[in-house]
Amino acid sequence: MHHDLRQCYWFDSLTNGAGARPSLQQDIDVDIAIVGAGYTGLWTAYHLKQLKPELSIVILEAEHVGFGASGRNGGWLMGEIAGLDSYLAARNEDLRTLAYREVHSIPARAGEVLQREGIDCDFAHGGAIYAAARYPGQLAMARAHLAALRAAGHSEADYRWLDADELRQLARVAGGRGAIFTPHVAAVQPAKLVTGLASVVERHGVRIHEGSRVIASSAGELHTATSRVRAPVVISALEGYGAGADSATKSGRPFILPFQSGMVISEPLSAAIWDEIGLAGRQVLSDYSRLATYVQRTQDDRLVFGARGGYRFGGKPISSFSGDDPAFETRRRLARSFFPVLEQAAFTHAWGGTLGIARRFAPHVVYDRARGEGTAGGYTGEGVGASFLFGLTLAELVLDQDSVRTCLPWVFRGNSADVLRRWEPEPLRWLGFKAAWGVYGWEESVLSRGSAGRWHKRLAGMAGAAVARLLSP
Ligand SMILES: Cc1cc2nc3c(=O)[nH]c(=O)nc-3n(C[C@H](O)[C@H](O)[C@H](O)COP(=O)(O)OP(=O)(O)OC[C@H]3O[C@@H](n4cnc5c(N)ncnc54)[C@H](O)[C@@H]3O)c2cc1C
Repeated sequence: MHHDLRQCYWFDSLTNGAGARPSLQQDIDVDIAIVGAGYTGLWTAYHLKQLKPELSIVILEAEHVGFGASGRNGGWLMGEIAGLDSYLAARNEDLRTLAYREVHSIPARAGEVLQREGIDCDFAHGGAIYAAARYPGQLAMARAHLAALRAAGHSEADYRWLDADELRQLARVAGGRGAIFTPHVAAVQPAKLVTGLASVVERHGVRIHEGSRVIASSAGELHTATSRVRAPVVISALEGYGAGADSATKSGRPFILPFQSGMVISEPLSAAIWDEIGLAGRQVLSDYSRLATYVQRTQDDRLVFGARGGYRFGGKPISSFSGDDPAFETRRRLARSFFPVLEQAAFTHAWGGTLGIARRFAPHVVYDRARGEGTAGGYTGEGVGASFLFGLTLAELVLDQDSVRTCLPWVFRGNSADVLRRWEPEPLRWLGFKAAWGVYGWEESVLSRGSAGRWHKRLAGMAGAAVARLLSP
């Protein structure tokens, strides 16, 4: 295991270790080469093998399986994707219905595969609670969110309102005034999922080489320091960890922006504390703060609390975070403001990772048949479930099998350079995020302060909403 990952509870608590696979030391020819052993690369390989078992597939991973966001995330396996409704806004109702069915069914379908393949990753399909909590301003945000979901055609069965009492039955979050509940989210232990999936993919005949960073590529050919791989089809599955490997970044205007998020985890909490918090069905929870909070109750009764990190100038993926980083103290403080009963609880680990944001603020699947090149990513922090669907979609595109999935609006045929939007050059990206995050931070501090005046709150809320609109796809 990479030393950085000892900070990460998911890897630190694995009893069967992360496994060590040899790097590739010889030149090989295969049908399909995949770069990156996170969920996207692994699910693509898995579905390819399901559809065509005789394919020879190799996965090249720079570090080790799950080193990227897939081993470090909050474990929300979502039947939602970032920007879903914007992709579908101008589409007819039939396509919308098909798309919603594909996306909402991700946790159930992934759950079936996990069970069938014997991947034990603490999967719990308990749903998600988006709570209006902590300060009164969140109630209007939650109601507006529900209205937008309804206007986009999501049903009561997909997203329903919980009043304050109903919310309290599920979770006793401070200042809880109501919530949206959706059944379409499951909780998982991310590192168990990614390492378990890697073993399954190997069992189906895929070769995985760790410590095998791709340092150069040309049509149908990849190079590591010690090998050359020839393949008519190459899939790039690097997401936020791709900066530097992706030739597009050399222009200074990448397709995917590496963005940091991080989390903290408590010690195992007593039954009495969990009685006060709730989440008995291991529902995941967040609030309407634009700090993008996310909570999970783990199978071993710890509480994981994550919140948005930031963007660093130049856009390099970051894997190592100092435990003294003030952002971790902010997350512990926020966790306690959600659940004051955590006041005395110790937090044992703090870690972070890098996720990828596409310029559309919505993810994509791209396949260029002429060049034999494919990719999927830009999940904007919602890739645990989406990678299951996108891996299947990529597999179908590679094998030229039309399906409902290959017709969905996040599927682009052609070269990435022609179909994806690029980010602005520096320093614009950095300045843009600095400004947006500054406004969000100001909004949060004003709205959460009971003493702030009504006009002050209204102004802060308007500024936050304006930035959110700018950042929506
Ligand atoms: C802190 C955090 C919390 C998150 N929480 C959630 C959540 O709760 N729910 C959710 O849905 N999403 C969440 N996400 C996002 C989610 O984890 C990602 O969208 C998803 O894991 C992306 O998977 P991937 O396989 O596409 O990329 P990654 O898992 O990032 O994998 C990319 C891999 O490529 C490898 N690589 C890079 N360069 C090379 C090269 N040149 N050669 C070979 N290999 C290379 C890397 O080492 C890495 O292993 C979170 C992300 C972070 C960072």
